[in-house]
Amino acid sequence: MLSVGVNGYGTIGKRVADAVRVQPDMRVAGVTKTKPGAEAAIAEERGYPLYTIEQDRLDLFREAGFEPAGLIEELVQESDVIVDATPGGVGETYLPMYREYDTPAIFQGKEDHEMVDASFNARANFGECVGADYLRVVSCNTTGLTRTLAPLVDNYEIEAARATLVRRGGDPDQSERGPINDTIPDPVDIPSHHGPDIGTVLPEIDVTTVALRVPTTLMHVHAVSLTLAASPDPAEVASVLDDESRVFLVPEYLDVEGIAALAEYGRDRGRPRGDMWESCLWDGSLTVDGRELYFIQAVHQESNVVPENIDAIRAITGSMDAADSMQLTDEQLGIGNWPGQLRDAPTPTPPSE
Ligand code: NAD
Repeated sequence: MLSVGVNGYGTIGKRVADAVRVQPDMRVAGVTKTKPGAEAAIAEERGYPLYTIEQDRLDLFREAGFEPAGLIEELVQESDVIVDATPGGVGETYLPMYREYDTPAIFQGKEDHEMVDASFNARANFGECVGADYLRVVSCNTTGLTRTLAPLVDNYEIEAARATLVRRGGDPDQSERGPINDTIPDPVDIPSHHGPDIGTVLPEIDVTTVALRVPTTLMHVHAVSLTLAASPDPAEVASVLDDESRVFLVPEYLDVEGIAALAEYGRDRGRPRGDMWESCLWDGSLTVDGRELYFIQAVHQESNVVPENIDAIRAITGSMDAADSMQLTDEQLGIGNWPGQLRDAPTPTPPSE
């Protein structure tokens, strides 16, 4: 049983803790919060030992009626692995502590690739990450694109790849973020950094990306176009993508017009917090025109890196291989339990919370 500590119990950290909790080979050793509040209360309700980052903050928690378990140093010492889900750039400041206690750690996409032994995506490079000391799960955009590009790279010769990323302005709880009435090239430089980031886990493909930020909190949307060496069979492309458990080919009969309807569908199906772990690719957008292949997909930024963090825990500890880990993660979370492409396909049971 692997003891997993989660440093930074926010959008990503709380989802990772809940995902760890349902794995048969892992337990939540504890989570850290910097101050008392609603998320700390939920952590306590779920039975996660609550740690904080400085001695004087322990009093802050006690005064608010919490029973903190101790300081982050203790959590790091007693964990087999730390998942660091602190804000971008903060993870780096914890690296010396993880080193001091010889605790392997998994960082998130905003930390530098150069800081870790390898960047991670389960579908692309699990094997290269086995036994590493420090990993970085690539960002939500990079994860979402890698999931659809990796199987295409495996099956086709791709001459050029381009993607326009329409990025959400902020997460639903980030009322300070925006824009609320604008569309912003972000970054304005072309190509954006996202393409090279895919290269950290999938070097076989060179992707040119352009990114815009828009007024939504629900999901990112990617418009992707690929030039292949030869014209592919559209049905075969659909089948290659449909075989991936972490790609959801959104069937046309669902009449899901956009990300609002997609998010609602996830909520209606009983996904915890409405999470959509898969890259959600509109089946109707999959188009072949000669050697050009086009598709449009949505990625839920708050949740799609969560299964990757679970697989990264098994890779860093060398406790399971890629196929077994991905299958177990998928089963335990309920990933890929969507209806099939045909209307008469049996409807699977929604996952429990
Ligand atoms: P968040 O702000 O929701 O959560 C971060 C948590 O860390 C908060 O609970 C905060 O209180 C805590 N924290 C702040 N300073 C700390 C410190 N010094 N020590 C310990 N805890 C501290 O952020 P998030 O959205 O969960 O992002 C975390 C990481 O995941 C970032 O690297 C981010 O780039 C990455 N990521 C975020 C998203 C997303 O869309 N939210 C998607 C993929 C990856």
